[in-house]
Amino acid sequence: MTVRVGVIGTGMIGADHVRRLSTVLAGAVVTAITDVDKDRAAAVAERFGGPTVHASGEDVIADAGVDAVVVASWGPTHEEYVLGSIAAGKPVFCEKPLATTPEACSRILDAETAAGRRLVQVGFMRRYDAGYSALKVAAANGSIGVPLLAHMAHRNPAVPPTVTSEMAINDSVVHEIDVTRWLLNEEITAVMILSPKRSRKAAPGLQDPMVVVFRTESGVLVDDELSVNVGYGYDIQAEIVGESGNARLGSGGLSGGAPIVVTNDGGRASAVPADWRERFIGAYDEEFRVWIDDIAAGREASGPSSWDGYAATVVAGACVSALHGAGESAFGGGGGWTTVPLRDRPGFYRR
Ligand code: NAP
Repeated sequence: MTVRVGVIGTGMIGADHVRRLSTVLAGAVVTAITDVDKDRAAAVAERFGGPTVHASGEDVIADAGVDAVVVASWGPTHEEYVLGSIAAGKPVFCEKPLATTPEACSRILDAETAAGRRLVQVGFMRRYDAGYSALKVAAANGSIGVPLLAHMAHRNPAVPPTVTSEMAINDSVVHEIDVTRWLLNEEITAVMILSPKRSRKAAPGLQDPMVVVFRTESGVLVDDELSVNVGYGYDIQAEIVGESGNARLGSGGLSGGAPIVVTNDGGRASAVPADWRERFIGAYDEEFRVWIDDIAAGREASGPSSWDGYAATVVAGACVSALHGAGESAFGGGGGWTTVPLRDRPGFYRR
């Protein structure tokens, strides 16, 4: 079966997903697209086989020639398109965030539960990266003992001066929130933000770098350094420290694979990816390959669920509250723990 896909939002990542579905992966064809910028949608349609350009996301969902929907529009629009796809009984891949508020995510949980079938997959692509997958195996198979703590770093080469601390949490830290929950197979129950000396490259309104600390249900502590103006490349790191050993992500190979290390002239060097696309291109391909395979086989979505999308939004919200000083601190004025207010996990998402 060839899965006929409709794509809502053909900006940076939406256009890349159209390319991926049209030219990289087997088993899918993009039959319909839309964007608020009609010229942008038309240009993407022309490049990739001429899918129908619709006037709205609702039209894409309703199109009888669309079996499944990709939502890659602006975050605040995600809820209505995900709910519309669930109402139409169509599988939907939603780029992160699932929705921008816990309440909106909760409405999606309720709608999907009422539909009785997992139709939603959220775009947390790091779960499909070869390095993170190996780290998850090491955390679970006893080779390093029981995980006790983890160190992570998310370093971007640069961000536009319009990026605020809140945006950096919602767009960047959210990936470490998801991989922490996934790697350790536990919820994050509390968060703390530490604000070190600011980089001189940080624009006003941006705490750069910042250190976000997660505490999980069993007490594992995860520190995540977010630096967004390092200049030298896109550098993603993760190390899990267990009772009897530790496991660390490779240095971030191109296309997610192991990079080569060149030794010459008295030195040893390996490349750092230029940006997130280069680092995770293999993971994006794999998450869509699995999504398409599940749909073609008539299976429920097996990737990150609505619950994962909900939890990520709630934890990111707690991080923003912590940033604004909501936590209890021995020193006063924030810097202490902020509790993550998760609702009870519906049994539907425990299956
Ligand atoms: P972008 O370049 O701004 O693209 C979003 C596109 O959607 C724009 O063309 C926008 O048009 C359009 N749009 C907005 N509202 C719409 C609506 N109601 N119907 C149809 N089109 C609409 O942003 P992006 O970087 O591609 O990000 C899109 C989403 O993907 C965001 O949620 C982002 O967080 C997520 N994302 C995820 C990853 C990841 O690593 N998983 C990476 C990048 C982005 P206008 O520009 O005219 O508003």
